Amino acid sequence: MTDTTATASGQDELVDELRTWLEENWDPDLTVGEWWQRLGLAGWAAPGLPTNAYGKALGRNDAVRVQTEIAAFGAVGAPAGLGLLLAAPTIATHGTQEQIDLYVRDIVTGARAWCQLFSEPGAGSDLAGLTTRAVRDGDEWIVNGQKVWTSLGQSADMGMLIARTNVDVPKHQGITWFAADMHQDGVDVRPLVEMTGHAMFNEVFLSDAHVADDAIIGGLNNGWAVANTTLMHERSGLGAGGGSAGGGMVVPGTIADQLGRRVGDFAVAPGSAPRRRSGAGAGAGFGGTAKMLTDLAKGNGTVADPTIRQDLMRLHTESEVARMGNLRLKAAKAAGKDIPGFGNISKLAMSNMMRLQRDLSLRIVGASGMLHAYKDEDRAALDAATGNPFLAMVTSMALWAQAPPIYGGTDQIQRNIIGERVLGLPKEPNNDKVMPFSELPKNA
Ligand SMILES: Cc1cc2nc3c(=O)[nH]c(=O)nc-3n(C[C@H](O)[C@H](O)[C@H](O)COP(=O)(O)OP(=O)(O)OC[C@H]3O[C@@H](n4cnc5c(N)ncnc54)[C@H](O)[C@@H]3O)c2cc1C
Repeated sequence: MTDTTATASGQDELVDELRTWLEENWDPDLTVGEWWQRLGLAGWAAPGLPTNAYGKALGRNDAVRVQTEIAAFGAVGAPAGLGLLLAAPTIATHGTQEQIDLYVRDIVTGARAWCQLFSEPGAGSDLAGLTTRAVRDGDEWIVNGQKVWTSLGQSADMGMLIARTNVDVPKHQGITWFAADMHQDGVDVRPLVEMTGHAMFNEVFLSDAHVADDAIIGGLNNGWAVANTTLMHERSGLGAGGGSAGGGMVVPGTIADQLGRRVGDFAVAPGSAPRRRSGAGAGAGFGGTAKMLTDLAKGNGTVADPTIRQDLMRLHTESEVARMGNLRLKAAKAAGKDIPGFGNISKLAMSNMMRLQRDLSLRIVGASGMLHAYKDEDRAALDAATGNPFLAMVTSMALWAQAPPIYGGTDQIQRNIIGERVLGLPKEPNNDKVMPFSELPKNA
């Protein structure tokens, strides 16, 4: 997949095609579900996917350009979430055409929302050590175990489930990736309230949950390779300079119950500030954040502090380095090459910028940084009290800053991967690649 470029005459064929399509198809009086049907089936919801998977096989930069153009037009963007970001590209890569038509179609049209059932209380960094078991029962699998930190599990129709299907082989070889239905008695989703005050993630208990044999993606016991595709998309989608999976604040799937609402009610007028999903503070690009913090510092006079000016410049510089890194990767890909470890380095860079942004923004706002709207309904009162809606965003971003160094593989794990797979440093001695999972020592 390659990115297009504007023609010499300045014409941009991709943008022209999209604009023409939007003019003919965007209608604020459609329901959300009807609009996403049009957007998704035309290939504009996930244009980075291959053409047999409801995409347009566009390169990453073009796919981001499509999102930007849809927003600039004032239309509601693609059904954002883990379905579009992770499940769709994973199934497009490893699924059969039948599975693509069954699952990816519902993702790009927003009909079903997905969550990622990977981490367990005893298996996060050591994900391949997972103990959730799936045992065959005729043409089904019966699943038992516990998952944790399941983002948006409370509004998910489907789960990307990895479970152990063979304990008699080394741990990486006995895992299978399933598309699991969350609407069943054997799946119990319990929200976990985090320090932002919101409950974005959950623990999920699987007790005799059922998954059909034909819901296996990528083959029995091949789940580690499939999960790595999911994780690769997680890192590249969340790294510094990475585009989000979609726009707007409309939640896909049947549980959020927004598919029947008028789509125009969710549209953001071109040029106005984007709406934010509550609880998430890291969505804005860092370039935009540096600008926002500079305005805040100018507004309250802290810009006179040379250390604040220095850190503003550092944030701006690091965001430019991330942007140029993406351009470098694009050029490498166009030349048929790659930059080994780029996704890992990019995610580490994002974690560093999140920390810098947290510390800098709290210094700029001073004592006001202690004020936070822990509930959505507190937000209006907070804005009224401070007179500055950006202050609430500062505390949201500061509390959220702890998350990126952990999710999608912690900073330490990214460094391990760079050390071992990119720099060729020796791995820690370990026999888990050869010893059957059932014989590996376990914590008591
Ligand atoms: C906001 C957020 C959203 C998330 N969403 C999801 C989700 O939707 N689905 C899902 O499945 N999971 C999700 N996670 C879980 C996430 O993937 C795990 O938290 C992460 O993989 C770390 O695992 P752990 O929490 O078990 O920590 P552990 O693996 O127990 O690590 C604890 C500490 O030990 C360090 N450590 C561990 N092993 C090594 C090593 N070999 N070398 C050096 N240091 C090491 C780690 O870096 C860390 O500092 C989410 C997490 C967060 C924060």
